[in-house]
Amino acid sequence: AGTGKFFVGGNWKCNGTRDSITKLVADLNDAKLETDVDVVVAPPYIYIDQVKQSLTDRIEISAQNSWIGKGGAFTGEISVEQLVDIGCKWVILGHSERRHIIGEDDQFIGKKAAYALSQNLKMKAFADSISNWTDVVIAYEPVWAIGTGKVATPQQAQEVHLAVRDWLKKNVSAEVASSTRIIYGGSVNGNNSSELAKQEDIDGFLVGGASLKGPEFAVIVNSVT
Ligand code: PEP
Repeated sequence: AGTGKFFVGGNWKCNGTRDSITKLVADLNDAKLETDVDVVVAPPYIYIDQVKQSLTDRIEISAQNSWIGKGGAFTGEISVEQLVDIGCKWVILGHSERRHIIGEDDQFIGKKAAYALSQNLKMKAFADSISNWTDVVIAYEPVWAIGTGKVATPQQAQEVHLAVRDWLKKNVSAEVASSTRIIYGGSVNGNNSSELAKQEDIDGFLVGGASLKGPEFAVIVNSVT
């Protein structure tokens, strides 16, 4: 882990029912979490309110997507203002599943990122159109590692994180490069997280499958020592 505060996000994706989420929240509320880690979970939209009402304030809530601008006549979309209204602090933008399955592209994601940041929603994403980097966390997720059980080796991940940091240094600024958290995602679990967390440029994790199990998610949160 680097110098920034360690960050662990749980991306629940399109999983869960009222009952299973009640159980997951209870497990998270019972878990002992290291104090020096930012912990965020991203439930499906329709359960955000349930989670907000029942989850400890220790864990912040993220959405998994947001609309590109102010709400209005956009059937099926959810606006940033609505997310803020129900207590979301974060949004995940540009996830590879939204790129590959839904067809979102860089330009569309960039617009969403700029709008979300303008409304003070923080972001786990990468985008060109960012003027203030303070609220941004970048997730590096090799697509071959997402949901496959094939995790990058600590060395592979470190190499890419360093390359992303160098890119930020050349294209944004040295200050942004050193202060922006770059987190790894792709088959992170309770067995592989501590080796990954030892790498200098891995500042946390974005966790899919293993974030659906409260005790295992807590192990991942606590893997930075
Ligand atoms: C993800 O999609 O953000 C992810 C990292 O998934 P998993 O942990 O299941 O590979």
